[in-house]
Amino acid sequence: MDKSKLIDEIISLKKEKKALILAHLYQSDDIQMMADYTGDSLELSRIAKESDEQVIVFCGVRFMAETAKILAPEKKIVFPVLDAKCDMARMVDVNQVNALKNEYPGAAVVCYVNSTSEVKAVSDYCCTSANAVTLVENIEENEIIFVPDKNLGAYVARNVPEKTFHFVRGFCPVHHALSIRDVESMREKYPGIRILAHPECKMEVLDAVDFVGSTSKILAEARNSSDQKLIIATEEGTLYRLKKESPQKEFILLTDELVCRDMKKIGLNHLRDALKNLEPLIEVDEETSQKARLALERMLQYS
Ligand code: SF4
Repeated sequence: MDKSKLIDEIISLKKEKKALILAHLYQSDDIQMMADYTGDSLELSRIAKESDEQVIVFCGVRFMAETAKILAPEKKIVFPVLDAKCDMARMVDVNQVNALKNEYPGAAVVCYVNSTSEVKAVSDYCCTSANAVTLVENIEENEIIFVPDKNLGAYVARNVPEKTFHFVRGFCPVHHALSIRDVESMREKYPGIRILAHPECKMEVLDAVDFVGSTSKILAEARNSSDQKLIIATEEGTLYRLKKESPQKEFILLTDELVCRDMKKIGLNHLRDALKNLEPLIEVDEETSQKARLALERMLQYS
């Protein structure tokens, strides 16, 4: 079916079903174009919880749709492609977290939102990359078990040096793959151009760039900067919003490899089918949901 016909169908089904479409900033341009709101995990979690619509079609990866369901259990959360998962979220399980809790009984578990609902349920706090530093600075515990992203954890630890941290070995394969050599070769190719990077990158990369921030902070920095050309070290879907917000500026990806395959699994046909059938629906069991909600509600208190 041609694209314009698919788009028309989506617009009319969205109206008919009174659905809200949320899309993460790493989704394809086509999906972001169809969304009512695009945003990072923190922004989308807030919208899912506070919106009036009772049907939300969530375009992102599975943990995001589960987060929306936990925060808004009365709403229908439709997730177009069930096997769009996050590789990082799969790197830590409940047993690993419980083992660390036994080893460090006085520590608070701070869990990056890129994790399974089960891991959130055994955590004290959730955070996103946008609020991880602020949250850890403000909680009363001085010993932190940070899961699953050791790179984001190291970045938080550097910014909150007065606290003690314990990590697991999780990482985002997309950001973790970037190297100091990638930064150096772009510096040679584009001398004087600032590089903005996501804190899921390794510390050696963060040390070599000009600005470190979550996707929403990279967007704000690019918007407010007087630079007309910037190099971006985060997932390529971000370019859609960057170009939309600053069409006169030029954005260059640090490497062509900055693509999350799971984030690209949802196509317009999946979105159309999800709206038409209002499925697949996301469900999270009541016990897990109740426990994880506590940690997620704490996440929403910090911006
Ligand atoms: S970009 Fe990385 S952290 Fe984000 S969904 Fe993909 S694998 Fe997970």
